[in-house]
Amino acid sequence: MSGSGQRPPKFPLALDRLAPVVRTARAATLRPQRPVHEAAADAQRRAAPTGLGLDSAGVRERMVARLRADGLRSEAVLAALASVPRHAFVDTALIAQAYEDTSLPIGLGQTISKPSVVGRMIELLLAAPGRAPGRLGRVLEVGTGCGYQAALLSQLGDQVVSIERLKPLHDKARTLLAPLRRNNLRLVYGDGRVGHPPNAPYDSIIAAAGGGDLPAAWLEQLAVGGRLVAPMQAAGGRGQVLMVVDRTESEWIRKVHEAVHFVPLKSGVA
Ligand code: SAH
Repeated sequence: MSGSGQRPPKFPLALDRLAPVVRTARAATLRPQRPVHEAAADAQRRAAPTGLGLDSAGVRERMVARLRADGLRSEAVLAALASVPRHAFVDTALIAQAYEDTSLPIGLGQTISKPSVVGRMIELLLAAPGRAPGRLGRVLEVGTGCGYQAALLSQLGDQVVSIERLKPLHDKARTLLAPLRRNNLRLVYGDGRVGHPPNAPYDSIIAAAGGGDLPAAWLEQLAVGGRLVAPMQAAGGRGQVLMVVDRTESEWIRKVHEAVHFVPLKSGVA
């Protein structure tokens, strides 16, 4: 915050060329990193999935059926959700909740995002104008966490770079992703606010943490024809909204989507 009383520009890059914001109404707030105690209370109310380990594909199919019933439409996203073993990305003690639509703790105060929110954000990326059906192209993910979303992205993207600022989580994701053998996925330890110039430009940029602005580096590293989906502090500082930015030859067109609740986008590494 500056002490001058003037608000810093939300888009340091080419601010004057941004198209007007379009608002789309959606009732419920998506809370991918919902507080852990709420998730625990939910889990107590519901029956744990049975047969996990022996039949994780079956449990996953049931999760996908619920997400489909709740409005997730992209078959490519649903197929990815059906194939990535989410239970492999959570601690053993939480495995029974792995296929609930809930966030779960992964250590260091961070969480694995809710499947419905991950699905919704990837669906939005895929809906960018002019995309090859079901394909994300070159992808940048900010906030690897334990690597669950990175696994989904690597199934739908040509090359994926995923950045995490917390070293223990970066290492954890590397270990958890290894068995999936995703040769097109690169994990980077660093501050995602600066993006990752060596692999830019990206057709898809997705952030799992939200700040007060969209970093200029993300907008610069977005390819012409590409789309960015990221949480951002809402105008007036009231909560967060999902921002969708499309880059054309001449401008960055941004749209405000539903309210969301992500962990904060922090600066630097730790
Ligand atoms: N993608 C994860 C969600 C992880 S939660 C999933 O699949 O469930 C969000 C993550 O963003 C946290 O691990 C947090 O450490 C990370 N993060 C926050 N600010 C960051 C930054 N500037 N650069 C990289 N990672 C960041």
